[in-house]
Amino acid sequence: MKKVQMLIDGKMSTALSGETREIRDPGNGEVLALVPESAREDVQRAILAARRAFDEGPWRNTTALDRGKFLFKVADAIRKEAKLLAEIEVRNCGKPLAEAEFDVADAANCFEFYGGLATKIHGETMSVPANSLSFVLREPIGVCGQIIPWNYPLLMASWKLAPALAAGNVCVLKPSELTPLTALELGRILTQLELPAGVVNIVSGPGANAGEELAESPLVDKIAFTGGTATGRKIVLGATSSLKRVSLELGGKNPNIVFEDCDFEAAVDGSLFAAFANQGEVCSAGSRLLVEKSIHARFVQAMLDKIPRIKLGHGLDGGVKMGPLISAAHREKVEQYIRVGVEEGAKLRCGGKRPEGAAFAKGNFLEPTIFDNVIPKMRIAREEIFGPVLSVIPFQNETEAIQIANDTEYGLAAGVWTKNITKGIRVMRAIRAGITWINTYHPTFNELPWGGYKQSGNGRELGLYGIEEYLEVKQVNVNLDEGPLGWY
Ligand code: NAD
Repeated sequence: MKKVQMLIDGKMSTALSGETREIRDPGNGEVLALVPESAREDVQRAILAARRAFDEGPWRNTTALDRGKFLFKVADAIRKEAKLLAEIEVRNCGKPLAEAEFDVADAANCFEFYGGLATKIHGETMSVPANSLSFVLREPIGVCGQIIPWNYPLLMASWKLAPALAAGNVCVLKPSELTPLTALELGRILTQLELPAGVVNIVSGPGANAGEELAESPLVDKIAFTGGTATGRKIVLGATSSLKRVSLELGGKNPNIVFEDCDFEAAVDGSLFAAFANQGEVCSAGSRLLVEKSIHARFVQAMLDKIPRIKLGHGLDGGVKMGPLISAAHREKVEQYIRVGVEEGAKLRCGGKRPEGAAFAKGNFLEPTIFDNVIPKMRIAREEIFGPVLSVIPFQNETEAIQIANDTEYGLAAGVWTKNITKGIRVMRAIRAGITWINTYHPTFNELPWGGYKQSGNGRELGLYGIEEYLEVKQVNVNLDEGPLGWY
């Protein structure tokens, strides 16, 4: 069995206890690797290494140019190992290979984007009052604890590490206990790139204890979290005693609105992609599909006609468009929601069950599921299911569509389909969400800010905004008058 190690203080290490966790392929149950199961003491070791690396300054005192060049090297190294990384991501997460390849390429691009940005972190100067030259410095925050979920492991690790490092911070990253493998591979890659010890630490382990230690430790200056909204609340509570900086990327129940004047075929295609890409295990999934009543029946039928094209299977098998869910427990949770939808009176139009056949017997597969005639107050319209379950809600007019779209505690993403661009922009401006698309769904750009309104989070990742989350701001006042103040 392959034993994988984690990165602490510049070295690949086991847990102090020697404990390991089996990591399984959700498509066939095969054990892929044994990874260290960190406890608080392991995370403390990583935090101390990071603390020393920050306080002694080997990273923040490098030039921005050198930090940028280092991030370019990480991008190159990811590209060199892209095939391996994509394959590991498929086996560990269950996603189709084409999606994993896209994630790996985007992870490299993210390091490159922030490599370029490292040299563009500027302050300001002012001469207020006249006898003072005042300027504003932007400095790294310090030790950043970073906790990521299981659905996009390498990509989320990159979204966290790249801006933090560009800004001169040091990091302790904890991937999900379910999908640590590509983050640990990234740790191995970093050891080959001459990074001072302790600047990046990657610890595998569970949320309880290992994750909690990162949120609670007074030696950590900032915690950046991506995951569920309920866990986000715990992170905030854990961070309270030290009042560390907190940024949160949380869940969503995202509206995707289709008007009768849309490009019908594009909207059908885009709405299926919005709901079922990555098995629907996407925070920004268009899991609430709002369709104008005048085209509702025809639209749902057109989606049903296309559903057979979503080929289920192991992500490494040719032509597969949907893989297994991440774990047996998660599939059960999604199935429980399907039962709830039926009990609530929504109309199950397809899916709702496990596919039959030997190819699916050992994996956590579930058919793509569409509920029609969903009412906004139903739980399947309100709660994040995080699986291949689409709730279709018919609406009468633009006002009602906006009202339904905003009737949620979340505010992560939204889509609108209409050929009337004025209407598209008007509707988008009325929707309380941080990531929006008109006549498309899901494209994500390293250059643009990612994050949510309302209970979908706090702060932004990516783009110029993403680096702000890793910078402190300091004012410096230089007295231009000579001699004493003369106050006393
Ligand atoms: P999760 O909240 O269960 O776990 C996320 C991470 O937090 C994991 O690493 C886990 O080990 C850790 N964790 C769990 N409990 C903890 C605790 N008490 N203290 C510290 N760490 C703890 O989420 P998940 O099931 O891995 O991922 C799915 C969720 O992530 C969904 O809600 C999804 O919407 C969200 N998500 C959001 C974004 C975004 O950008 N907004 C992106 C991807 C996923």
